[in-house]
Amino acid sequence: MQNNLKRFNLLPIILCLFLYSCENSDENFTQLQLKNTEVEHLVLAKNARLQKKTIIKRGQGMFQALKQVSIGNKLSLRIINALRDKIEFSKLKVGDKLVATFDGNMKLISFSFSNLPAERHIITVNEVSNDFSYSFKEEQTVWKTRILAGELKQSSTLQDDLVATGLKRSVVAEIINVLLCKVNFRLNARMGDKYKILLNERFYNGEILDSKILYTSYRGVRAGSSEAYFYNDGSANSTYTAHYTEEGEALIRSGLRYPVDRLHIRSGYGYRRHPVTGRRKMHRGVDLRARSGSAVYSVARGVVLESSYNKFGGNKVSIRHADRSISYYLHLKNRLVKKGDRVRSHQVIGRVGATGRVTGPHLHFGFKKSNGRWMNPMNKRMIATPKLKGKRFANLSLQIEQTKSILQDLEFNKLGRYVFAARPNNS
Ligand SMILES: [Zn+2]
Repeated sequence: MQNNLKRFNLLPIILCLFLYSCENSDENFTQLQLKNTEVEHLVLAKNARLQKKTIIKRGQGMFQALKQVSIGNKLSLRIINALRDKIEFSKLKVGDKLVATFDGNMKLISFSFSNLPAERHIITVNEVSNDFSYSFKEEQTVWKTRILAGELKQSSTLQDDLVATGLKRSVVAEIINVLLCKVNFRLNARMGDKYKILLNERFYNGEILDSKILYTSYRGVRAGSSEAYFYNDGSANSTYTAHYTEEGEALIRSGLRYPVDRLHIRSGYGYRRHPVTGRRKMHRGVDLRARSGSAVYSVARGVVLESSYNKFGGNKVSIRHADRSISYYLHLKNRLVKKGDRVRSHQVIGRVGATGRVTGPHLHFGFKKSNGRWMNPMNKRMIATPKLKGKRFANLSLQIEQTKSILQDLEFNKLGRYVFAARPNNS
């Protein structure tokens, strides 16, 4: 009995080995291979499995990438919906990795997506019910801190100097943006101005996955001196996580307040192709994921232009602001303002809901410029609060203390090494 079972189990292994060994010679089999897509065969104890891998290429969306690993439209739609709250598809990058694993009948067993080399979002398909289950796997990574310090030379700019150190352009842009609130580089940058940046970088296999700018300072004869500290508000996607001065002032000069407390874009602004019908449709706003019932804030002070219900937008509020721009808030669970009301900036005007034609609770947030044209609201500068107060300010102060002690340690170490190196040989 036992022996029979064993023999039975061996058969697929042999079959599988056969497939594996003729990967390069068997014409029929290589047809499965798609252009630019790596196909791998795994020999597992019980079943033949086929693994297909690809990466996001320039100009490619999730649907095209899924097609490259032989996942059809219907399944693609299910996968995208299942991952929508975990991954911001509007932020796909070239090089993001997809791996699909199939059984011998080309039925999907599991799918994984990585937008960071050390992280995998995994969907496992239940063999019987075909239901999806989601899991997240993270490899061990290391965070390291380092200081970048220097001074401006003749005819150099801070931006050029930072790019020359090998920092990613997006990190450089963030540093410049933080400093721009306090320093007018065009007018006041001078040769000899000093800068110091404290970075916290996440490493995996010698590669930097993520950079946080913990501290920036700039000192110049004309520019004066300014410092900014990174504040982590704790919860994921919190709009309060940003750079502030030691006094808790946000380092954005002016801007709209965020309409929700956490920012997670489910669906971006612009043309999008319907996954099933293939029709192109303009999405005049962004869909922000938020829990049903969470607060929706007015992004600036203004007058309520409409507060009404219709079967598409559900409960809808729009607000006209001082410069005649208009902000729109759709699918609300309830509306807390009525037409003609004056609202303050960051006033709660309703709650996130799923009214109208939607698949789940979210806030559709739209913005019309003063000339009446729609624009991507995410292109507006946004600010959680002009100044941190209360518990948040206390947390900022704590985090600033930590940042200062990291700075001191790093500077002390540098000094220590210098002293050691300069010490005479006989000591
Ligand atoms: Zn929408």
